[in-house]
Amino acid sequence: MIFPSAKIFLSKEVPKDDLISLDKSHWCELNQKRWIYAVDIYSFGEYLLPKLLFKGPFTLYKSEVKCLACYKMSPILAIEASGYVPIGGEDHDLALNIAFFLEGGIKDLRSKPVYLTNVEEYPPEFLKKIRMSSFLFRKYSLGEDNDYFANACMHCKAPIEDFNIFYEEDGPLARCNPSPARHGVVLNYETPIICEAQFA
Ligand SMILES: [Zn+2]
Repeated sequence: MIFPSAKIFLSKEVPKDDLISLDKSHWCELNQKRWIYAVDIYSFGEYLLPKLLFKGPFTLYKSEVKCLACYKMSPILAIEASGYVPIGGEDHDLALNIAFFLEGGIKDLRSKPVYLTNVEEYPPEFLKKIRMSSFLFRKYSLGEDNDYFANACMHCKAPIEDFNIFYEEDGPLARCNPSPARHGVVLNYETPIICEAQFA
C-alpha cells in the first residue's frame, strides 16, 4: 500500500462487543468519529459508506465573500485537490475499492483540480494547516444531516456556507467564474484525503 497511514473515518458506530475492531480503530474528538489506518481497511468495510478520494498536492486558496448575516466582506479559505475519484460499493467491496486506489490506482488518476466542499471529516493534521490561516474554519451543523467544515465571517462569526462560495453563480470560487480573485499556496501534504464530501 502506498499510503498505509492515511486516515479513514468510519461512518457507522463500532459495537462495544466488537473488541478487535475497537482495538484497531481510534476516536477522533475533532471529527467526533472513529477512524482507522488505511492498512486496516480490509476488516472495516461494514462500517464505511461511499467516499471521495482527493489526491495531492493540495492548494490552500484565499478569497473573500460577502457575509449574508452582516453584509460585510469576509476572507474565506478553500482547498483545491489535484484530482479526485468517487469510491462506491458496499461493505467489503467498498473496502476493496478504496484499497485499490491506495495500493497504486491513485497513480493513474488524471489531474483535474477540484475544490473540496461540504467536507464532513478532515484528518486533524490537515485541518491544522487550514487553521493556521483561519481558526474560524470549523465544523458546523447547517441543518439536518448537514454537518461539515465551513468558513465563518471574520466580523460576526456567522457560518458561511460552501454553497455561497462554490455553487452560486456569483460565488467567488464558482467554476463558471473565469478569473476568480484568489491567492493560493501549495500545502506540504501528500497523503490523499478520503472523506465524505462533495467537490466543485
Ligand atoms: Zn458577518
